[in-house]
Formats: sequence, structure tokens, C-alpha cells
Amino acid sequence: MKNKSFNTVSDVTMTKSPDYDHKHLGRRHFLKQSATTAALIATSQFPFEAFAADNAKQSLTILHTNDVHSRLDPFPMDGSKYQGLGGVVAREKLISKIRNEEEYTLLLDAGDIFQGTPYFNFYKGEPEMKVMSMLKYEAATLGNHDFDNGIDGLVKQMEHADFPFVNCNYDFGGTALEPLMKPYTIVRKGKIKIGILGVGIELNGLVPEKLYGNIVYNDPLQSANETAYFLKHHKRCDYIICLSHLGFEYNNSKVSDKVLARESEHINLIIGGHTHTFLETPHKLKNRKNQEVIINQVGWAGINLGRINIFFDNRKHCDYVSDFTAIEVREFHI
Ligand SMILES: [Zn+2]
Repeated sequence: MKNKSFNTVSDVTMTKSPDYDHKHLGRRHFLKQSATTAALIATSQFPFEAFAADNAKQSLTILHTNDVHSRLDPFPMDGSKYQGLGGVVAREKLISKIRNEEEYTLLLDAGDIFQGTPYFNFYKGEPEMKVMSMLKYEAATLGNHDFDNGIDGLVKQMEHADFPFVNCNYDFGGTALEPLMKPYTIVRKGKIKIGILGVGIELNGLVPEKLYGNIVYNDPLQSANETAYFLKHHKRCDYIICLSHLGFEYNNSKVSDKVLARESEHINLIIGGHTHTFLETPHKLKNRKNQEVIINQVGWAGINLGRINIFFDNRKHCDYVSDFTAIEVREFHI
């Protein structure tokens, strides 16, 4: 499953082509930023990368999953709602295709990698971690189900992960996860420095205590704000992403991605999970400083791949975010 081995697109169906149309709308909108391109707007084949380089602007395509729940295969063709959707083969083809088209991409997961199919019951999460490494995920956070075989079960499978796990609100001190977890990671894409932090849900009540052991849950709002502040002001990150397994929203006072977005500073994008919420477009809110925060979540089971295109201006500020969000992961059935 080498990345560059699938160059053809014929066997991957993009969801409702609106996604694709939106992409071009996104590009057009970006092009409109420059007065010199008025004549070129009409030509949709205009080579975007060349334009971006000339003006020292940059785009970044963020691809993401959440709550894949050990779904390595597509849903069976049994007449059910999700038949034929998902599966790592189709996901790999889709990701490779996008990586071939875009100069800068980032692939992230928001937790609950484990639990849900016999693969997990038999192999305890090893194939899930190996597949994510082969797909070249660049960071993930932990969901509650990732503790289903306890801390030791998770630690054992993390050996197969070639990507960092981030969480800033669990105190792993004294547990076997302590050396394996990081509050954040930083990646560079072109000239853009991206800080990626993670937050997790309260495990007490969701996960049997013996499985999460001595992990201490700290306030995710405070932890996320402190970590984002550090990434912004000390590490000088241009863009900050929070991988969250808090859940999109609740009808009670429980902390969620919406609450986090409103109460945050410095976080630009929240990639969420846990509530298995299929968002059709990224949800936009204002933070404490009245700046925009985007939340996206793509359901569960690898049915959709989240895709957010961000355009940075020549001061490395986020200039424009495309409106489309999820691409259906589907093998083409003849
Ligand atoms: Zn889940």
C-alpha cells in the first residue's frame, strides 16, 4: 500500500460532486484575493501552485478521520445504510489521489481507533495501528475506546504506530503511557508551522477504572488554552489544531467541542470525534476574542474522509477556509 502506487482516480468516487465543485469555488475565491487574476478566474484550469508560489501564499489540505472503530473493511453489501462505504483500501486511494494533487497535506485522527469489528477482538488493534502508519497519519489523539484493552493493551499496540499521539489534559504520570504521549506535536508544511494538540473526554464513567488506571483527567478547556498559548507564543506556530475526543455538542453542561471553541484562544481548528457526528460543512464559531474557530467531525467508521483546505496569506495568516468538508470513502463497484 505504497502512497504513490495509486495514481488513477477512476476507482474512487468522490461524494456528491458538490465537494469537488466547492473545491473549485474555494480556489476561485482565493484567486479573487488578487486583482491581477481577474481574467484568469474564468479559466478553471489555471495552475494554482504556480500562482501561490509567485505570491508567497500557501495552501494546506487537512485530511482527517475520527471514530474509525476498527473498520478496516467496507460495510458489507447487504442492503444496509452504509453498504459499500469505508474501508482502508478506498481510504488509501482517496488520500493518495489528494496527496498527488496538493502540495501540502496533513492527515489526522481524533480517536476511537479501536473497537467495533472482529479485527479488534482477534488482533487487539495491531492492524489498525499498522494501517494508520502505512497511510502516513501524522498525529492522533486517544478516544475512550482506545482503552478497551487497558493501558497495557494500548501501549503494546502503540509500538506499531509511526505517528505521535497527543493529549494535553490527561496526566499520564507514573503510567506506562507517560513516555509515549505528548501534549502536542509540531509539524511544518512549507513555510507554515502547525501546532497540533489533543484533548480527551472524562474517562470516569465511560471506561472501567481498572482499564485507565492512574490517568488523571484535567479540565480540557484550561489544558487546551494553556497548550495553545504555549504553541502560539513560545513555539511561534502559525496555525493551531486541536484533536478532540470531547464530542461535538450536548444538551447539558458537559464540555464539548462547541464549548471548547467558544472558550478557547489561539485554536484555529478543532477536529472532533466521540459523538459520531456527520457534519456536512465545518461548523464555525467565535472564540473568546471574537476570532473564528472551525469544528469538523466526519461521523464514524471511516465512511467519510474530512477535508479542509486552508489558504494562508503572505504573512502566514489563515486567509480563507474552503466550505466543503467530507468526502465519501467508497470503492467503485461495477
Ligand atoms: Zn466512537
